[in-house]
Amino acid sequence: MTLTGKMLIGQHAISGDREAIQAINPATNTRLEPSYAGGSGAHVEQACALAWAAFDAYRDTSQADRATFLETIAANIEALGDALIDRAVAETGLARPRIQSERGRTCGQLRTFARTVRAGEWLDVRVDAAQPERQPLPRADLRQRHVPLGPVAVFGASNFPLAFSVAGGDSASALAAGCPVIVKAHGAHPGTSELVGRAVAKAVNDCGLPEGVFSLLYGSGREVGIALVTDARIKAVGFTGSRSGGVALTQAAQARPEPIPVYAEMSSINPVYLFPAALQARAEGLAQGFVASLTQGAGQFCTHPGLVVAVAGSALERFIATASQLLPGCAAQTMLTPGIFSAYQAGVAALAEHAQVVATGAAATGPNQGQAHLFVTQANAFVANEHLQAEVFGAASLVVVCANDDEVRQVCEHLEGQLTATLHLDENDLVHAKALLPVLERKAGRLLVNGWPTGVEVCDAMVHGGPFPATSDSRSTSVGTAAILRFLRPVCYQAFPDSLLPGALQHANPLRLRRLVNGHREA
Ligand code: NAP
Repeated sequence: MTLTGKMLIGQHAISGDREAIQAINPATNTRLEPSYAGGSGAHVEQACALAWAAFDAYRDTSQADRATFLETIAANIEALGDALIDRAVAETGLARPRIQSERGRTCGQLRTFARTVRAGEWLDVRVDAAQPERQPLPRADLRQRHVPLGPVAVFGASNFPLAFSVAGGDSASALAAGCPVIVKAHGAHPGTSELVGRAVAKAVNDCGLPEGVFSLLYGSGREVGIALVTDARIKAVGFTGSRSGGVALTQAAQARPEPIPVYAEMSSINPVYLFPAALQARAEGLAQGFVASLTQGAGQFCTHPGLVVAVAGSALERFIATASQLLPGCAAQTMLTPGIFSAYQAGVAALAEHAQVVATGAAATGPNQGQAHLFVTQANAFVANEHLQAEVFGAASLVVVCANDDEVRQVCEHLEGQLTATLHLDENDLVHAKALLPVLERKAGRLLVNGWPTGVEVCDAMVHGGPFPATSDSRSTSVGTAAILRFLRPVCYQAFPDSLLPGALQHANPLRLRRLVNGHREA
């Protein structure tokens, strides 16, 4: 499939009129054709007008039709075949098997949301029947369901060119909710974005939906991104990226005459707690698991283990020694973009000013290759120095050595919000872990035992979120079926005649939904 270098505004391929972006193959530092001229405010206006025009018709589609649309997007992405894989590998430097599995996750995610849409639990139907005889006042018939918020702006992520970009988790959950989507492509992988964008636009056409259900824009975040977020027809935003970018977009959304929710996933260092009995029993095995998790994908995961916390002693020394022996055997890996590589170098240099480097991975042999780094510091130094808590996006991690349980708790209390917190423990550690849990629940969106935080399952129970700065809104998840709730709001219908009610709320329950009726869940 030939790439056109054009945006997709509804069903129209349109050239931008601003500075062009061109993907760079980070493995070779060579530019990839074609170039993508950036869009302007006029293009945002066109896309928003189409999205708004499409909204009422799209939100009115049946559960079955919307589910079929999501499945058609998945099928169309798969039909792109190797062309998609080749382009994504070239644009990101990520290994082919990783991109293949990411395509599987992306299509699986779309199909999971199709199942969710069909099942209808997301409508959260509640019925409180009229009580005309109630004293002293009668009660009217009250019925509630969820409705979609409106058009959603999605910012593609650099580190998931498929699973968190054009047809990734944010787009899939917003489309599942009944919201048209306008994607601002990430500048690192415009060709991958075009291919997937065309697969989505084709699905819109295949399913006979209004063209404004989906648009794909290129261009600068400060122009196209801010114009999108501040357009009155955009009603919510999904974002994955830097803390500064997420905060800028959140502030722009809050400053609107009508503020809107921004679901920005930004920065997390994902503390790992090694409790004494577990550390004593298997320091070497823990070090192996840690190094594998740290270096996976060049550490370019929002869930990479950037912090290890444990009480001082010979077992922790064994852990550090084993990790230090393993790290030099880890090859330097190509990072996603020259910019992300430079940011990693700067982050490592900043950490080196404040903590001791105890081991490094193998040196780089090609452009933009990040070398793994392991640092050590003491608990009192950690809590006194905010630089040590900054996310370094890449394969760098810091071990914080604590004198005792009190210091472990102090380190924990001192942390900002996190996506994950990991506990490595044995039976004899349970009492220590239990004492720390209330603090960890305040800090993180996902708590895990005897595993590693990288690898986020797409399922019903997943939470990929957490207090600021992990995300801008800790009340939701960006991975898993609960992500649909971000793009819905409840509406109550009081004393409506049956014929005026939406199908989900009608007395005969024609959609056969499991409803909460007069306080009882229907079978
Ligand atoms: P980014 O710089 O935040 O860019 C993400 C998107 O936001 C891009 O479309 C960008 O537009 C836009 N944007 C950024 N700043 C903006 C602003 N002030 N106003 C409006 N739009 C703005 O993220 P990135 O390029 O993916 O990576 C940069 C750094 O982010 C990494 O080095 C890493 O530290 C962090 N990161 C973290 C995660 C995570 O999951 N925790 C994931 C990816 C990246 P432009 O196209 O104009 O740049």
